[in-house]
Amino acid sequence: MATIASRSQEIIEQAQRFIPGGVSSANRLVEPNLVFTRAQGAYIFDAEGKRYIDYHAAFGPPLLGHCQPEVQQRVVEAMSHTDVIGVGSSDLEAQLAEKICEHVPSAEKVLFCNSGSEATYAALRLARAITGRQKIIKFQGCYHGWHDAILMNVITPAEKIGQRDPLSAGMLPQAIENTLVLPFNDLNAVQQVLQEQGTEIAAIILELIPHNIGTVLPQQAFVQGLRDLTRQHQIVLIFDEVVTGFRHGLGGYQKVLGVTPDLTTMAKSIANGFPLAALAGRADLLDHCAPGGDVFFAGTFNAHPASVAASLATIEILERPDSYAHLFNLGKRMRDGLAEIVQRHGITATVAGFGSIFLLYFMEPPIESYTDLLRNDAKKFVDYRCALITRGIYELPVNLKRNHISLAHSAADIDQSLEAANEVLKAL
Ligand code: PMP
Repeated sequence: MATIASRSQEIIEQAQRFIPGGVSSANRLVEPNLVFTRAQGAYIFDAEGKRYIDYHAAFGPPLLGHCQPEVQQRVVEAMSHTDVIGVGSSDLEAQLAEKICEHVPSAEKVLFCNSGSEATYAALRLARAITGRQKIIKFQGCYHGWHDAILMNVITPAEKIGQRDPLSAGMLPQAIENTLVLPFNDLNAVQQVLQEQGTEIAAIILELIPHNIGTVLPQQAFVQGLRDLTRQHQIVLIFDEVVTGFRHGLGGYQKVLGVTPDLTTMAKSIANGFPLAALAGRADLLDHCAPGGDVFFAGTFNAHPASVAASLATIEILERPDSYAHLFNLGKRMRDGLAEIVQRHGITATVAGFGSIFLLYFMEPPIESYTDLLRNDAKKFVDYRCALITRGIYELPVNLKRNHISLAHSAADIDQSLEAANEVLKAL
């Protein structure tokens, strides 16, 4: 019989024999190469049974905590009498669409798909169809999924700043050429491009807070400026709220800022871990989609009843008066605690985040765009997290990745994590 200690290694070796690299998604191959076999509430458990406080949270979905019992129960109920039928829509799907339109300022209508990438793909196609234009603008540091139009310039090496930095071989050159990449929070750069090429731009897409490089807060004037300029040039403005949607409030971060885009994409915590994404926005734009319009939108598993049931349960829990207060209070407790530790030990570091998201950059402020983050000490960033992992705190040990707090985390979890952070930072 295999010893318990070799179980992780066994699973890794078996996976690597049959799955390229042993993982089915690029960012899952990280050192130390742990295998997790159980997730419950705020915790994940490795194959040896060791418990970790989970702040990676699968890049964000389990906002209520892993395997949230009410969500699980609603999924089991839904799946006890249906699976996929594939004709028409379901009563739950209609209820969910109504809820999203009730909460998200830009949502007059909504379409469901399975992943954030599918939603941003559909948003960009719709924008191109409506405007008859081809080019799009994205911002350095933002990630919007794996498709050719936007898979570029997220964590770009210093020598490639200002150039296109495609993240995969095999991308269509025409798709890459039609995407312009500009610095975040730089309205002048956008203005300049629009002066020259405004009539060729179909869409501007952005993460309202570029959480794929941690947390870079947007300047209100930048986002409002984008809103004004896109109106002026008849460009479709897309807020990619795949991370910020539901996590930062039922209305997303657009509600916090008070700026409403034409289209919004949402995924991740919308269904607390079940695969669901949404493309929402102005009714007159979404009505261009099939079957009413000529923009093709389809998917065998779109609005899968399990995910729809999970999403309805998730939103109902988030609607309870204390939910966001708990998330935001714990976020603040963590950020304040880290700031105090950093100051006490005189460490060059900056605490960043918003709401339930936090992280520690090893650099001085200011942090207004991706290029500022080139000053982050990537080695310290990863070493710090690896040391936390040995103490039972899981923050993904990859440069610039954000951490997530869930409703299942407690003040005691945060305090235990701060104690570990204190030990590690003192020694770093
Ligand atoms: N947009 C943003 C802002 C994201 O963070 C991600 C995923 N990290 C995506 C889109 C793509 O979502 P998915 O991985 O579900 O395709």
